[in-house]
Amino acid sequence: MSFAKPIFDVQKARADFPILTREVNGKPLIYLDSGASAQKPRQVIEAMSDAMGRSYANVHRGLHTLANETTDAYERARESVRRLINAPSVNEVVFTKGATESINLVASSLGLGLKAGDEIVVSEMEHHANIIPWHFLRERQGIVLRFIPVLDDGSLDMDAYRALLGPKTKMVAVTHMSNVLGTVNPVAEIIAAAHAVSAPVLLDGAQAIVHGAVDVQALDVDFYVFSGHKLYGPTGIGVLYGKAERLAALPPYQGGGEMIGSVTLEKISYADPPHRFEAGTPAIIEAIGLGAAVEWLEQFDRAAIAAHEHALYERVKGGLNGANWLTEIGTAPGKGAIFSFNVAGAHAHDVAQILDRYGVAVRAGTHCAEPLMRRFGVTSSARASFALYNTLEEADSFVAALVKAQGFFS
Ligand SMILES: *Cc1c(COP(=O)(O)O)cnc(C)c1O
Repeated sequence: MSFAKPIFDVQKARADFPILTREVNGKPLIYLDSGASAQKPRQVIEAMSDAMGRSYANVHRGLHTLANETTDAYERARESVRRLINAPSVNEVVFTKGATESINLVASSLGLGLKAGDEIVVSEMEHHANIIPWHFLRERQGIVLRFIPVLDDGSLDMDAYRALLGPKTKMVAVTHMSNVLGTVNPVAEIIAAAHAVSAPVLLDGAQAIVHGAVDVQALDVDFYVFSGHKLYGPTGIGVLYGKAERLAALPPYQGGGEMIGSVTLEKISYADPPHRFEAGTPAIIEAIGLGAAVEWLEQFDRAAIAAHEHALYERVKGGLNGANWLTEIGTAPGKGAIFSFNVAGAHAHDVAQILDRYGVAVRAGTHCAEPLMRRFGVTSSARASFALYNTLEEADSFVAALVKAQGFFS
């Protein structure tokens, strides 16, 4: 008996993205900057437009039909996100404005219970979003940050990681997948080791959630964060998943409407999670857009998407065929579809600008990961990041444009 491998139909998926038919500088757009923000399918655009044009009111104040309809749509989005990450309950899904705000929320609330000398373990490959909020605790409260070193191929030094853990470890906060290296970290191992010293783990899933299935129960992770806009949804919305008992133990982050139980002049009581962490009018339209993005993604097999994206990366690697004028940063086994590189004798910004003339959009700079850049002895890199809508032909065109760009510098 044989099982057919699910095939990912890139042309069918691509047809849902109106922006992908446009031209840039007289050339067809080749969008390889999805790691910074992904394009949106029309299902997301229409869901948001409908939410404003057909049934709009503030949420949670259900005294009239539109308020009830909008509340239902908002809470349905929460249920869609719950399904996406297989959280046990919708009450463990907090809407924030993005991965950055989710991490700031956990760091500031958790920080209230920490004292000088307590330790937080992060890694050298983190996005600034998963470094700065913990640095605040260092500056303000004398919390000690311990960094897991990165090996030459872009993987974490797991022996060094285990040696960093101890009774003072109060949190391990690492990325599930690096936005620069593409490294997919051994998160099950990281979580088991942290739990062995009773430390909770926060995973930055901003990249990982886009490229593969995530199951927070199978991972046994304490906190998982990501943004909507990299997952084919809108900006302004993100997610903080937290285990029920972890969220229940966190003091509120911001105060305002919707997050309280009762208020008198003398005292307040708080609502239960997730509402405790959603002060004020939430990003209603954006949450509905994220829900639509998740529902749109559900039609595809996530492993088939990952295989397609991996094929794009391999096509680029094969096309460049070990070019001696190019250095790739991040070559860990099993890495995701992100290609960071430098061209000999060229600044990454100049490479990106020349590629733009050929319609190819890549990012260049520090990718909000200055410690990682320093680790690899560079000040910047160019980065092509692949999404489900990219085609093998686009991968070939990117290689051809890169070879032409290199000609300017040799
Ligand atoms: C993009 C990104 C973030 C920050 O996401 P925002 O949407 O800017 O809040 C954090 N971590 C990683 C790995 C990212 O790629």
